[in-house]
Amino acid sequence: MNSRGMFRSVLRCLRINPVAGHRSMSQSSLTGKVAIVTASTDGIGLAAAQALGKKGAHVVVSSRRQANVDRAVALLQSQSIQVTGTTCNVGKAEDREKLVALTLQKYGGVDILVSNAAVNPFFGNTMDSTEEVWDKILSINVKASFLMTKLVVPHMEKRGGGNVVFVSSVAGYQPMPALGPYSVSKTALLGLTRVLAPELAPSNIRVNCVAPGIIKTRFSSALWQNEDIMDEFKKQISMRRYNSYEMDKSIGTC
Ligand code: NAP
Repeated sequence: MNSRGMFRSVLRCLRINPVAGHRSMSQSSLTGKVAIVTASTDGIGLAAAQALGKKGAHVVVSSRRQANVDRAVALLQSQSIQVTGTTCNVGKAEDREKLVALTLQKYGGVDILVSNAAVNPFFGNTMDSTEEVWDKILSINVKASFLMTKLVVPHMEKRGGGNVVFVSSVAGYQPMPALGPYSVSKTALLGLTRVLAPELAPSNIRVNCVAPGIIKTRFSSALWQNEDIMDEFKKQISMRRYNSYEMDKSIGTC
């Protein structure tokens, strides 16, 4: 599945609401909804922000670097998407709080959280990974996803419900060679989804998870820039191919 296909899945998650009818989203419109997408100045997060914005949602984009935020906001604005942005390193409590505060100040509430940020500082045999690697991966990929959810849930409850989408990975189901700690963190997100979904259902908040396959982005570049590594990874994929990142590339990367 490519990034567009994956975000059609995200949108499907957002539309089907088995919990309560009155806040279910129509096939064609997220008009009036407010969506926070973390790590959304490039790759899958940016594609998610674009997909939600094109359905009419107000979107709030963020990432660590101001220049990337500015570029993403300019790109989405050029596509007539209602968007604002701020820097937010999801590993920092004050940044997470700033992101939610800006959203409330600009748009008056939150309906959707796409928790997309992840890091992978380690490539190799898991037995060679350090405590520092595990702290970083679990802190950004898992703990920050939960803490972002904890911050937005009270605001979703005020609006009668909401949607949380975690971005996991196929690695969460089938660990990838040389990506042990990262794969474990993505499996943990599947667990977090299963834990939070029943807890938040009574508040009419749905919790879902998407698990993309390998998509050619900067994040996954270690898996596709080297031919030999790429061939090794492709053996694990039924289609024997990667998907390209298809979004309008005028934003560039840095
Ligand atoms: P990407 O194209 O490299 O984009 C990464 C984005 O994250 C950038 O906007 C970056 O901007 C931001 N970012 C990095 N660290 C951050 C942090 N600590 N806090 C906030 N923002 C941060 O990456 P991607 O491939 O789209 O990956 C996005 C998600 O998809 C990740 O959860 C990844 O695990 C998952 N995923 C990717 C693939 C794949 O093959 N690409 C497959 C399965 C799952 P700044 O540098 O400005 O912070």
